[in-house]
Amino acid sequence: MKFISTRGGEKVTGAQAIVKGLSDNGGLFVPEKFPQVSAEELDEMIGMSYPERAAKVLYKFLDDYDEKELLSACEAAYAKFEGDDPAPLVKIKDGVYVLELFHGPTCAFKDMALTVLPYLLRKGCDICGVEEQILVLVATSGDTGKAALEGFKDAKGIKIMVFYPDDGVSSMQKLQMCTQEGKNVNVVAVKGNFDDCQTAVKNIFNSEECAAALKEHGTLLSSANSINFGRLAPQIAYYFSAYLDLVSSEQIEMGQEIDFCVPTGNFGNILAAYYAKRMGLPVRRLHCASNMNNILTDFLAKGKYDVHREFYKTMSPSMDILVSSNLERLLFEVSGRDFKLTAERMKKLKEDGVYEITEEERKAIAEIFDGGFADEDEVVETVYDLFCDTGYTMDTHTGCAMKVANDWAHKNKKDTTKMVVVSTANPYKFPQDVLYAVTGNDVRDSFKGIKRLHAATAMAVPKSLATLRDKPIIFKTTVTRDKMFDEVLKFVK
Ligand SMILES: *Cc1c(COP(=O)(O)O)cnc(C)c1O
Repeated sequence: MKFISTRGGEKVTGAQAIVKGLSDNGGLFVPEKFPQVSAEELDEMIGMSYPERAAKVLYKFLDDYDEKELLSACEAAYAKFEGDDPAPLVKIKDGVYVLELFHGPTCAFKDMALTVLPYLLRKGCDICGVEEQILVLVATSGDTGKAALEGFKDAKGIKIMVFYPDDGVSSMQKLQMCTQEGKNVNVVAVKGNFDDCQTAVKNIFNSEECAAALKEHGTLLSSANSINFGRLAPQIAYYFSAYLDLVSSEQIEMGQEIDFCVPTGNFGNILAAYYAKRMGLPVRRLHCASNMNNILTDFLAKGKYDVHREFYKTMSPSMDILVSSNLERLLFEVSGRDFKLTAERMKKLKEDGVYEITEEERKAIAEIFDGGFADEDEVVETVYDLFCDTGYTMDTHTGCAMKVANDWAHKNKKDTTKMVVVSTANPYKFPQDVLYAVTGNDVRDSFKGIKRLHAATAMAVPKSLATLRDKPIIFKTTVTRDKMFDEVLKFVK
């Protein structure tokens, strides 16, 4: 399987796509065509473990890797998760299920991919004969940073550096990152919001000057952000797994279509669902859930992407994003894989902050995607209502998705299609907000939040969060955007 750039010009192997992260002209790597999973293969996958299902999906794209090795890598990655099942499906009520993707080492869905990516990157470098030291550079809205640090810590021949927006992440997320252990890690705060931070990191990636400076130190840049195909591929697997779990638990018949509702920021998670559908998984509709930063809701309704709008800091910080990088991959598909048009639109987005798609394209997207959002009060109400009705506790990101799923059910009372709401974080990762939603109590301190949330819900506290309080703060640097590359150079010297 070969990969091409959404902006044309390049054709690379899977290993190359993962090592490079971004194509030379700034485009994202996409598979030359979507590999298919046949009905017989789906049947075979029912009896498989999660790592086996994941390895099977990965190998469909990454056939330049060794299939057995992919399996051992997936087994090792998902052994780091709490419980027997890395992606359990929980039935909430008739026809509604929650796919819990937060049982990994850092309690957010990013672990699903970032526990596997270090293997994909290390092996990718070996396949490509890369001899330089690799520097993984990450811009994070909170959860990616910690998951990447945890995944890459002490990896051979790889250094990892994470930039996060100074006041754009939750206190728990900040603490998780700033206490990170490992010999090859670095964490730096940047003044500004996530989009500023992400843009600055992208500029480093696109700069020949930066590449040359790093080369002098024997260093090559790579990305662990969700634009890297190595992030996307392991995410496709859990959509297959959720579907197979519905079949094996006799909730649906094999072949019956289902819906997914996904809390969305950078459009990576929901894009993986779209890829699963394109590979033949029986998926009907995809519901794209946002918070008050509802630029995607507007885009799906109007066909116009416009970043000139207020930016809100919400209780679901991992979705406080205005420029959803992975949308480029969907645009590329609906434009009929038009490289030139995709490149033009991305140029317009960069220069003017706005682009439009045609009405025909908008309709094509609307055949699969719906958009919706939840404001802050609605998130609180949704988390509270579900807790009261069923005893199930969700985090604030999942709350956005549940609200959007509820709205859909309300508007389509006769629709019997099963809805899987994707849950992206453990409630204890956002303890104050979830506590407030569930009990109305407002506490300042995260650990008090954890204690009281535990008292209110009796839900188990993940070990990695419970022990955070006693860890020393290792990283304290804050810089402005123009000083980021200086920090990079200091780190690789
Ligand atoms: C990253 C993240 C999201 C958004 O996922 P995208 O792939 O960026 O759309 C949603 N919820 C949580 C908890 C996250 O960490």
